[in-house]
Amino acid sequence: MDYRGRFAPSPTGRLHFGSLAAALGSWLCARQAGGQWLLRMEDIDPPREMPGAAAAILAALPAFGFAADEPVLYQSQRLAAYDAAFTQLREADAVFPCWCSRSELAAGAQLHRDGRCVAPPDPRREPAWRLRVPDTGIAFDDALQGPQRQNLRESVGDFVIRRVEGLYSYQLACVVDDAYQGITEVVRGCDLLDSTPRQICLQRLLGLPTPRYLHLPLALDAAGRKLSKSEQAWPVDPTDPLPALRRALAFLGQPVPEDAVDAPALLAAALSRFDPVLIPKHSGCFAG
Ligand code: GLU
Repeated sequence: MDYRGRFAPSPTGRLHFGSLAAALGSWLCARQAGGQWLLRMEDIDPPREMPGAAAAILAALPAFGFAADEPVLYQSQRLAAYDAAFTQLREADAVFPCWCSRSELAAGAQLHRDGRCVAPPDPRREPAWRLRVPDTGIAFDDALQGPQRQNLRESVGDFVIRRVEGLYSYQLACVVDDAYQGITEVVRGCDLLDSTPRQICLQRLLGLPTPRYLHLPLALDAAGRKLSKSEQAWPVDPTDPLPALRRALAFLGQPVPEDAVDAPALLAAALSRFDPVLIPKHSGCFAG
């Protein structure tokens, strides 16, 4: 199958250094394989969104030289597909309603376990829906991080796929859309390494293919914290793209072409010398 990669930002803030590195890493892998590179706006969580962030991210990407091969897929327009996947899981008895309240959960009073919830239904609200996770190890071979294995029952438990507000979880939407977009290779930050077994579990239950995965090192601040858009950390400047692109290339362990005059020229030069073997495995400090 032809290579199809993607970059899937959440509009919780402007493009920052960590997401630029993920965009660059996924773009370099896709282009080197002669594949397609697609964009998906993960705008399914309105309470966490920053007004204007989706447009700002989509305007910044071409300034950094990135052009997607297909129109952007907006998760906010995909609710019917998530409803259909949810119905499929319900019909397979793979999910159960959970009436634990936020305050009970916050207080550690978890009334759901091993595929069921014993909290009494509350007629004033909708339940959350959790996946009954299997008590088996889910293994995959990450192209950078190596062999991974996780028992979901032991490490995450029955996780939420549809929240109390009726919003679908990132895990469900990501799996449905990776399949819909025909993604064969997921290249993204290492913060999502431990989401991957949950996604593989959902793919199996929904009868969807599992792409290959490569989890890039994470950019950390000088104190060792993840650079996060929601904390407004290290936004990158699309009006002056070369310095941030050079730093992102260096962060991915790649040689940095010094003589490029604009972003497309820098990307072309970087692509001609791109070697995935040079990408460091471990998360690294980006001091600015
Ligand atoms: N939307 C997620 C983020 O911005 C990335 C999702 C993914 O690449 O699977 O962190």
